[in-house]
Amino acid sequence: MIYHLRHFFSVIIFNFLLMAIGHAQPEGLKLHFSVAMDDPAAQLFQVQMVCEGLDTGYTDLKIPVWMPGYYQVLNYPEKIQNFRVMEDNGQAIRWEKANRVTWRVYHGVETSLTVAYEVLADRPFVATNFLSEERAYLAPGGIFMHLAGKIDQPATITIIPNRDGEAVATGLETVDNNPLHFYAPDFDVLYDSPLLVGPLDTLPSFEVRGVPHRFVGYQLGDFDHQTFMDDLKQVVEAAVDMIGDIPFEAYTFIGIGPGAGGIEHLNSTMVSFSGSERLNTFEGRKGVLSFLGHEYFHHYNAKRIRPIELGPFDYDHGSRTNMLWVAEGITAYYDELLLRRAGLVAGEDIIKTFERTIRSVESSPGSRFQSVTQASFDTWSDGPFGRKNDELNKTVSYYEKGPILGLLLDLKIRQETSNKRSLDDVMRSLYFDIYKKEGRGYTEEEFRAICEKTAGVPLHEFFSYVYSVQPIDYAKYLGYAGLKIDLEPRIQPGAYLGIRVAEKEGKLIINQVEWNSPAWYEGLRRDQEIIGINGQPASAALLEEQLMNSSPGEILRFEMKLADGSTRMVPLLLEEKKEISFAIERVISPSAQQQAILDGWLGTNH
Ligand SMILES: [Zn+2]
Repeated sequence: MIYHLRHFFSVIIFNFLLMAIGHAQPEGLKLHFSVAMDDPAAQLFQVQMVCEGLDTGYTDLKIPVWMPGYYQVLNYPEKIQNFRVMEDNGQAIRWEKANRVTWRVYHGVETSLTVAYEVLADRPFVATNFLSEERAYLAPGGIFMHLAGKIDQPATITIIPNRDGEAVATGLETVDNNPLHFYAPDFDVLYDSPLLVGPLDTLPSFEVRGVPHRFVGYQLGDFDHQTFMDDLKQVVEAAVDMIGDIPFEAYTFIGIGPGAGGIEHLNSTMVSFSGSERLNTFEGRKGVLSFLGHEYFHHYNAKRIRPIELGPFDYDHGSRTNMLWVAEGITAYYDELLLRRAGLVAGEDIIKTFERTIRSVESSPGSRFQSVTQASFDTWSDGPFGRKNDELNKTVSYYEKGPILGLLLDLKIRQETSNKRSLDDVMRSLYFDIYKKEGRGYTEEEFRAICEKTAGVPLHEFFSYVYSVQPIDYAKYLGYAGLKIDLEPRIQPGAYLGIRVAEKEGKLIINQVEWNSPAWYEGLRRDQEIIGINGQPASAALLEEQLMNSSPGEILRFEMKLADGSTRMVPLLLEEKKEISFAIERVISPSAQQQAILDGWLGTNH
């Protein structure tokens, strides 16, 4: 059955000040925001911030430079325009910029004032503000100013949609059930709660352990909504069954429209989503379900089970941590396993997935240069998905090596405990013993101590894989589960040069140069243009043909076009082309313990 539900809500806009008074707040300082969006063509949000109960003198108002979950400095402060401040009587008040993120307002004896500014909302992405005729997306870190040093301050928010009947989807709680009025107990919660405004679609919701899980979004698309949500429910149940606790009263998946990426929040996730008939087949749904499972699992691992550096956050500068290989990498490990535990994929699919991931990491030179802890710490400069230029060869992705480390750790714990304990126990211990009991994040030392306590043995070798680029002994770890891996380099037909190319506007451009390859040593680099190969006009097809029909020891001659327009002949001595398949298979006669570990890891009937 195909569902397409489009829900329009009729709402009456109350005066937000009256609403704020209706909500219990501590005496003293009060903050109320309203956000209007009445000129979508200009892509500007009009923000009004009413402050009451200020100390006399001056007040510093600040805006963050990043959104937790997206480890990049964003230009939120630069998007603020037309900042002004008024007393109650409408008189303008003097202010000045104190630094990039701080506006200093000199209000003297006045303790109430109204701040107004506009926010340019011109990028449709899960971490940035966007406004169009059809929808509005509010990345709260880029919208709502806080008072310096007062992140704990509550605030109320009124959203004024451009058109009557538009709905708001957010993780914030409403005030007096009014769907346009919201309450944030502090700015950590507010900055963790983006808002999507528009004519929103709703998919059939479900409950897990009595807790409602909803899916709301902009143009979710025509497909079999019920089957999709039935599958998603199984993924959510698998995650909940593993930890055994649901730390919120409701959860919302919020689809913000087409695009790429998602960001996790405490009781919601914002995801790029555009459904279509391709979701009517399981193969079409699989990647989306694992993506949604990833974001959902983050409400445990990243938001609550979190590196101690990731909350309280440094909104001024960003929060660096070595532990994104756990927050992201182990989440990526589980997003694969959750589909298996939900009974949606076969055990063999999981084995093949890890085979591909191992091949990808081991084939990337960056895994010989950078540890996952370095990659985590440096993500602020490298970007969450690694460097983009030639430095690509020197970075490893914690989204790829992280799940491999999750697999090794899981199998090692199962091996040392005769499959009585697993990585699941580590995650539960981090959740209950540190997050629930202590209300904080874990330190690197605590993470290791909990892993070693769960395994019952020191884990020197495992952590050397975490903190260094030491080659991984795959055969040993996979052997614990009765799996073997083919690590034999095999000579392939043709010859090896070590570049990838792409044709762009009739030019043959180098996309990537592998470190330590013949091309690398002759100085070929990304973005250079090849104009000739062995005296013929260069093309991707010609290069492929030449490499396939050449033998190691032969010379290929490139004519390169240099930046100054001149040309240069580059002789390239071709080498043997060797590849390792990293194919993973089950051993023919596993021991009882190997079988138990494989069954424990993949479930029975795999
Ligand atoms: Zn993630």
